[in-house]
Amino acid sequence: MNIFYAPSSQINNGFAELLDQEAIHASKVMRAQEGDKLTIVDGEGGRYHGVVRRITKKSVQVEIEDEQHRSRPKPHFILAMGIIKKRDRLEFAVEKAIELGAAQICLFRSEHTIKENVRMDRLESLAISAMKQSLQAHLSTVEIYHSLEMMLDSIRADKILVAHEKVGEDKGSIDYESVSNAAKTLLLVGPEGGFSETEIRDLTEKGGQLVSLGPNRLRAETAAVAFMSQFL
Ligand code: SAH
Repeated sequence: MNIFYAPSSQINNGFAELLDQEAIHASKVMRAQEGDKLTIVDGEGGRYHGVVRRITKKSVQVEIEDEQHRSRPKPHFILAMGIIKKRDRLEFAVEKAIELGAAQICLFRSEHTIKENVRMDRLESLAISAMKQSLQAHLSTVEIYHSLEMMLDSIRADKILVAHEKVGEDKGSIDYESVSNAAKTLLLVGPEGGFSETEIRDLTEKGGQLVSLGPNRLRAETAAVAFMSQFL
């Protein structure tokens, strides 16, 4: 199934309009023709089925025949990750976390962040393609923070879990029941150098629970995927 994205501002009076990359994807890549049926999501839970009525160079207009609206699946997961040096690895982590259901991605600079290489424009289009790929109708947000502290100040979560390779498997098990009862859960993964001792202390003081993802030391992007997978 091919899904296209149009924000709600492009959906009016029974018509949805695909623009920019989405229009090119529909008309040039997928070779949609007038009369073809397709599915559009608006990133806010709306899913529309319709028929292509008009194709121009810049847009594809779709007449909506049927629509459904759903609220975002609960619980709400926020994946926070220390910025890692290699951009492709960071982008991999963001894409996979969204496929696995993270509603929000927060990237933060931490004590052991080596280099910043974040391209927000790429991450935003990646969020759109990951949503479509995984047949979700809600667009995940991607945010960047200049420090771990600033991120913790602005994110309100009922539950904070911190992946930490040094916690020990016996102490670092996840309490699934409390996660499913929490409206918002924040999952934190450190950068390639891990969290500093001070950061771990601050996180635990703020109520963060240290979690083990098994005996092996994982790369940060693997840890992000493994962490999200615990809640499938
Ligand atoms: N501090 C380490 C490696 C950090 S790995 C070093 O440089 O030797 C990067 C991040 O992945 C960690 O901060 C942690 O959040 C996560 N991580 C990796 N392996 C993990 C494990 N076995 N359990 C929990 N978290 C892990």
